[in-house]
Amino acid sequence: MVVSFEDLEDFLACPKRFFKNLPKKERMNFHNETFSLLLKSGFSVEKPVVHCRVQEIELVAMPDFLVKEADGWRIILKKTAKRFKDKYSLEASFNAFVFSQAGWNVSSVEVHSDHFVRKVENWRTLVPLVTSAVASMSKLDSEPMPSPNRTCRHCEFIEDCERELLDKKSLLLVNGIGKETEKVLKGLGINDLEDLAAASDEKLVGVFGPERAKRLIYSARSFLEERVIVLEKPEKMPEGIVLDVENYPPDEIDFLYGFLVRNEYRYFLVDNPQDEDRVVGFLESLPKGSPVYHYHGPEQRKVDQLFRRRKRKFFGNFIDVYTVLRRHFVLPVFSYSLKRVAKLFGYQWRTNLNGYAIVNLYEKWVETREESIINLILQYNEDDVRATKVVIDFINSHSSFS
Ligand code: SF4
Repeated sequence: MVVSFEDLEDFLACPKRFFKNLPKKERMNFHNETFSLLLKSGFSVEKPVVHCRVQEIELVAMPDFLVKEADGWRIILKKTAKRFKDKYSLEASFNAFVFSQAGWNVSSVEVHSDHFVRKVENWRTLVPLVTSAVASMSKLDSEPMPSPNRTCRHCEFIEDCERELLDKKSLLLVNGIGKETEKVLKGLGINDLEDLAAASDEKLVGVFGPERAKRLIYSARSFLEERVIVLEKPEKMPEGIVLDVENYPPDEIDFLYGFLVRNEYRYFLVDNPQDEDRVVGFLESLPKGSPVYHYHGPEQRKVDQLFRRRKRKFFGNFIDVYTVLRRHFVLPVFSYSLKRVAKLFGYQWRTNLNGYAIVNLYEKWVETREESIINLILQYNEDDVRATKVVIDFINSHSSFS
């Protein structure tokens, strides 16, 4: 098995996804002796590939630079982010560990971006985390059970995991039940979905409060009976536009504003303040108080910032469709992500992309300006606004006026 830092990150987030992705992973030809020769001759090297073998696993480090110093090599990782992120420390540790296991001295590890330079002092203290993850990987001989986590909502295997957990009648299937809550429920004698579905409110209220207790019980019933449960009929959602903003976090740029206006997709690509003016102009052309729907995203904050920068105020009415959905319905889904929910209501996604993939595609598009790349991003964004509309239609089909 060949493991890069991205693979290690994937494993730490979810061993099952790591396992399922194993056959897909590209196998790089990392046995490049040129790097070893350059290092042996004491040169600094750009984009080296360094590898070592630990517990039958080939670990591959690909830092951006190795700079020769008197007492070894300084490893440099380059980033585009504006601020240092905690996860860079683990990446620094992984690179330094592989490099030293390969027989080279590490003098220091640094993370560089256009906005900061940070020496990672604690890389040695994180090595046990790397080695214990590698030890667990080496013992992975069958597909692990799903372990619900915050990345599930972007995961392509979500429906497989739902089926598997449902077959086992696992409590972990219920949105909001993690390992800790599962332990608490088991302490109350609730061991699986059937127990939870049959539990009385009184049994759970003392621990979870009335709202959450009701939701947990209804969620279990929703899965077992394969049906949507209406908690309370919603008000009809009036005609409005749908908005989804695509963001590039490293530079904190909102580069695409996509709208659905009477079933027509409209978008604004934003590269400069003039483009932002066009978005503001479009929003100001809407009647005062117009509903602007979005799904659980930061759209309201983004638009408010856009207007505030121009010392103006937007008079639209933002409505988070996710909040309305959660308040009124319990669905047989593992995650209430737009992707999963709209799929349940029959929406067919045209791409298999997620937010992370869009960030990479945007970087590629900025570099190449290739039309096929931006078209893919637009398709993804259009799917998001159309899927949000599908959820609105579902809510309205259950509204008190329907
Ligand atoms: S849905 Fe969640 S538990 Fe299942 S493979 Fe994906 S990340 Fe892991």
